[in-house]
Amino acid sequence: ARQAGGDTLVHYSESLNAQAGLRLDLEAQLRRAVERQELELHYQPQQSLSDGGLIGFEALIRWRRGEELVSPAHFIPLAEESGLIVSIGEWVLEEVCRQLSQWQADSGRRLVVAVNISPRQFAAPGFLAHIEALLASTHIDPSSIELEITEGVMMENAESAIVLLQRLRALGLRLSIDDFGTGYSSLAYLSRFPIDKLKIDQSFVRNMGTVKQQSAIVQATIGLGHSLGMTVIAEGVETEAQRALLHSWQCDEIQGYHYSRPLPARAALNFLQGSVQL
Ligand code: C2E
Ligand code: CA
Ligand code: CA
Ligand code: CA
Repeated sequence: ARQAGGDTLVHYSESLNAQAGLRLDLEAQLRRAVERQELELHYQPQQSLSDGGLIGFEALIRWRRGEELVSPAHFIPLAEESGLIVSIGEWVLEEVCRQLSQWQADSGRRLVVAVNISPRQFAAPGFLAHIEALLASTHIDPSSIELEITEGVMMENAESAIVLLQRLRALGLRLSIDDFGTGYSSLAYLSRFPIDKLKIDQSFVRNMGTVKQQSAIVQATIGLGHSLGMTVIAEGVETEAQRALLHSWQCDEIQGYHYSRPLPARAALNFLQGSVQL
């Protein structure tokens, strides 16, 4: 037993070293990826349930590392911890503005692109100034950009979050709460946040048809959002049955594999051009 314990300890510390090494290595690689412009955005279409039309897209980051496309789940947490997320986040916003102008020129269509804002990015001192500068230097209609913020970010420092959100709103940007239901929103605060859209997390949508309580949560959330004057979108909608249920509960919009997977920019333009004009 003692022997085994010793072995375990060695393995443990070895694996700790290996993990720390891997982490540093990954961080260095990510830093280089930013410089070499190996990051790219894919765009997942969002659909209106009332008329089936395309509303816009959510921008989702990927890292093109050689042949493979690395999922944000594998590097966003690290970018967040190391602070790299601030420059990555600035790049994302710049790229979305560039893409929006191009799509508008190519298609003549008005659409909204939603951008994920990480906690650290939201809290960074230069966040508002960067967005102001970006809007000033492009001819983008601010209401074609939607910032997705999680509950945790808003609740952690609610009073200052409200002030910042109001400033962003005053610039004309749209605001949404991402992954709603997975954090701890205070209902008292929720009514004070200047939020346009509530995104129901996919974990609730997944078991909607089979778990009665999940259906109750989704229906109640749709009602809550509407009573606060918000648009409600459900994420992770994969089946026609889920779409039909959400539609019957007056959910406004859906996003998920049922309508479309996230698409590279060029495919997103094709999707846009083939979709119903709203
Ligand atoms: P999220 O913001 O909740 O994004 C939705 C995730 O669900 C995306 O994963 C999307 O590809 C996936 N998804 C969409 N429809 C379906 C579906 O029907 N079924 C299932 N199972 N999944 C679906 P993805 O692209 O891997 O992104 C993961 C997370 O990484 C995002 O979760 C977001 O938190 C973060 N992320 C992505 N892009 C950015 C970014 O530019 N900045 C920041 N800060 N975070 C980002
Ligand atoms: Ca999101
Ligand atoms: Ca989400
Ligand atoms: Ca998420």
